[in-house]
Amino acid sequence: MIVGGNWKCNLTRAKALELAEQLNELDTTDVEVVVAPVALHVPLVQAKLKRAVSLAAQNCGFAGNGAYTGEVSAEQLVALEVPWVIIGHSERRTHFREDDDLLAAKLDDALKAGLRVIFCVGESHAERAAGQTVEVCVRQLAGVLRLPRFTPARVVLAYEPVWAIGTGLVATPAQAQQTHAALRAHVARERSAEVAARLRIQYGGSVSAANCAELAALPDVDGFLVGGASLRAAEFATIVRSCASASAPAFGPFMADWLAYPALGAATLLPAFVPVHPYVHMIVLASTIVYVGCHRALAQSALAPGVTTAETVTQKEAMRFPLYGSAVLVGLYAVVKLVKKEYLNALIACYFFVLGAGAVQQAVRAPLQALPAVRRLKTHVWRVNWQFWDKDAPAEKVEFNALDVPLLVIGLALSFAYTRTKWWVLANCLAVCFSVCAVEMLTLGSFQIGCMLLSFLFAYDIFWVFGTEVMVTVAKGIDAPIKLLFPKHLRADKPEFSLLGLGDIVIPGIFVAMMLRFDARRGLRALPYFKSGMVAYVLALLTTVGVMHFFEAAQPALLYLVPGCLGAAFATAAVRGELAPLWRFSEEEADEGEAGTEGRGAGAKRE
Ligand code: PEP
Repeated sequence: MIVGGNWKCNLTRAKALELAEQLNELDTTDVEVVVAPVALHVPLVQAKLKRAVSLAAQNCGFAGNGAYTGEVSAEQLVALEVPWVIIGHSERRTHFREDDDLLAAKLDDALKAGLRVIFCVGESHAERAAGQTVEVCVRQLAGVLRLPRFTPARVVLAYEPVWAIGTGLVATPAQAQQTHAALRAHVARERSAEVAARLRIQYGGSVSAANCAELAALPDVDGFLVGGASLRAAEFATIVRSCASASAPAFGPFMADWLAYPALGAATLLPAFVPVHPYVHMIVLASTIVYVGCHRALAQSALAPGVTTAETVTQKEAMRFPLYGSAVLVGLYAVVKLVKKEYLNALIACYFFVLGAGAVQQAVRAPLQALPAVRRLKTHVWRVNWQFWDKDAPAEKVEFNALDVPLLVIGLALSFAYTRTKWWVLANCLAVCFSVCAVEMLTLGSFQIGCMLLSFLFAYDIFWVFGTEVMVTVAKGIDAPIKLLFPKHLRADKPEFSLLGLGDIVIPGIFVAMMLRFDARRGLRALPYFKSGMVAYVLALLTTVGVMHFFEAAQPALLYLVPGCLGAAFATAAVRGELAPLWRFSEEEADEGEAGTEGRGAGAKRE
């Protein structure tokens, strides 16, 4: 669901800032919220708003920068980090004589520049009376549906009957549903069923706190474009919440919030006090990390591009990974062999002290942030230019609330305690936080890149574990949270551990996370790809410990994990007859709504 607030040519500077301040209190869970102040106020409101609310311009030019007096180009909006623009609003069509050709040119220019667009269509009162509603909207859409860049990830359609805008006359639920369904069917004919299914269609026209719930519940209404009521923070909040309740999130906040986090905490801490077999400990802890990391990665993918902080692995990076990995490994091996252990450990302690505090804060923040009491905390925004030597470098927004301070203190205390004591439980706490965050934040660009990365690392792991002593020497020689430790007994005098490198969690983890996103993109509520990936991960870990136990030799876990995870994905696709869409699956393309992207994204209302 997506709700837009069109402030039109309203509000003074002070009032706009006051409204932005009030919007920072808005609960945006399960709803994407975009507001459009006048162009002049955009940077001011941008500085005030926290990340949960996105910004839109109300208009943009049709031909980039140039001699277009009075115009603001799409390129300039992108440079200003404004992610959205409204195009085709009836007031622009009527008062500024913007016709369908000009609007198609604007849309094309905006999409080329990288903006997301709310594109408005709607009929006049006379046209509705003449029974021409769908015909008019279809005509207004003709030019834009031909644009290759028109995709559900980039464009949201707003059906706004002109007679309902600003008049207090709202479309009846039947009128809204019929028109939305007809437009969706038209998009299906002109583009594809997949594009139509994923396209979000907002209703706009005198939406208010009084009528929003009924409209939001309609199967083909995916949110609202709100004019007058968006100027009143409390009423706008009611409208936003109506959309949240209407969208039964298929892939939204997940049971891991309530079950997997305590399970993760227990799997990390309990073995410090209760003897747990190291293999059981390893399998439970590693698979819980993957489970939690995957769901957090899914939540990241549902965020708007400017909001998510996830990083995508490109094909080039996937190809270079084993080379760089080998270089780092050999470097560490040389350090382990040549540098005195005390110096090495002091260096590592400094490094992980800083990194560990950040990882703890990030890992713990997300689940706590979902609590209602925490959501109500005031968010403070700092704009910091990290490249302080370059005055023109863009300042980045840093947002924090009262929760972040104790979390940072806890993170620092944990890291400090670890560097002082080197207690294995603290090492595991840091390693768990590192790996959850890594699975959450690293995205594979496409299924093919995933296959490539996993295959290269499969060869890399086998070579360095079986072919040389390098990997095992580094794993045992470096006393840092780059591995999980599973004690074979709890005697403090002579501890012995089984080890699992973080790579054996993060690498398969980011692949299984991609399978969860594939399920979400295709609207597969049963999550067949994710579940088979999880089962394969557990079975492959079981095989690793089985072989390790019987042959009493260290094993490259990726030897079993890579075929397990890849095999599960291919087998699931073969059984479901979906090999082609799986092979073509690209995070970018899926985002663009093209090949193999059936179904609706995270938080879909219909299956
Ligand atoms: C609008 O301007 O897009 C709109 C729908 O306005 P209102 O909600 O005031 O009718």
